[in-house]
Amino acid sequence: MGKHRLQELIEALHQRYQSCTEGEVATYIPELGKANPQHFGVSLVTSDGLSFNTGNYEQPFTIQSISKPFTYGMALELYGAEKVARHVGVEPSGDAFNSIELEQDTNRPFNPMVNAGAITVTALLYQHYGDRALEMLLARFSAAAGRALSIDEAVYQSESRTGHRNRAIAHLLLNFGMIDEPVEPALDLYFKQCSILVNCRDLATMGATLANLGTNPITKEEVYDLSVVKDMLSIMLTCGMYNYSGQWAYQVGVPAKSGVGGGVMAAVNRQLGLAIFSPPLDKLGNSCRGIKVCVDLANELGLHAF
Ligand code: GLU
Repeated sequence: MGKHRLQELIEALHQRYQSCTEGEVATYIPELGKANPQHFGVSLVTSDGLSFNTGNYEQPFTIQSISKPFTYGMALELYGAEKVARHVGVEPSGDAFNSIELEQDTNRPFNPMVNAGAITVTALLYQHYGDRALEMLLARFSAAAGRALSIDEAVYQSESRTGHRNRAIAHLLLNFGMIDEPVEPALDLYFKQCSILVNCRDLATMGATLANLGTNPITKEEVYDLSVVKDMLSIMLTCGMYNYSGQWAYQVGVPAKSGVGGGVMAAVNRQLGLAIFSPPLDKLGNSCRGIKVCVDLANELGLHAF
C-alpha cells in the first residue's frame, strides 16, 4: 500500500523548508532562548481521527499563547458569553501581544488573544476554581490533546521571575476592575498555562478537537461545548496570529493561533487540525516555517474558508 496523500504532502513541505534559516528564537523569556532552531515538525489530524506526522513531531515545547483560545473557551462555558464580554472584547488590537493598553470606553482588554485579555480570562478561571484551577486547566488541555500534559518547570520559573510586563498588565487590569484580588495567584496560573508542554501531534489533535466541533476525534471525548467552539474559532481567525492576523485571514483563511515557543495550530472547520513546530520567529512573533508551511498547505489542499 502506498503512502497516504496527506503524509506525502507534509513530508514534501517539511523537506521544502527544512533548510530555511529565517527568524530568531524568542529570548525575552530567558529559558526559551535555549530552543534548538533546527527542530521542525508538522502534524495533521483529521476529523475522522487519522494522524499524519513528520520531522520532530514528538519534540516537547511550551504551548505559550496557543493556550489562550482554550482558556477562553473554558471561561465562556463557565460564565456565559455575556459576562465574559464585560471583561474582555473581541476586537483586533492592531498592537503587539504584550501591549499595555485597554479599550477607551470600557477599560476592557481588546480581545482574549493579547496578553491583557488572556490574563483577564485566566483570572476569571482562578476566581471560579481557586486552588483547583491548574488541575482543571490541565485536565481540559489534556482531554483536547488526548494524553496527560504537564508543565515545563524551568520555563515556568523563568517567566515567573522575569514577567514584569505581564505583572504590570495584571495590576492595570486590577486598577480598572477587570480582574479581582488576589492578582498574584491568577498571574501564576497564567504563567503555568503558558508553560504547558505539548508536541506537534498534541497541538494538531487540539486543533482537530476544535475543527471537530469540540469532540476529540481520536478519543471521541467531548471536550468543549459546541456553543463555545464557534466563539473560540472566530477569535482565532480575527486575532490569533498577532499583527499578521489580517494577512493570515486573507492568505490562509482558517482559524489559527501561534505562540512564542514556535508552535502554530490551525483548525479547518469539520475537516482537520494542523500544527507546525519550529522555534525561529519572524518580527511579528510567528514561526517562520510555520507560516510558510500553512500558506502552502492552504493552497495545495484548498483550505481557505471562502
Ligand atoms: N507567556 C508568554 C507571554 O505572556 C506568551 C506569549 C506568546 O506566546 O505570545 O509573554
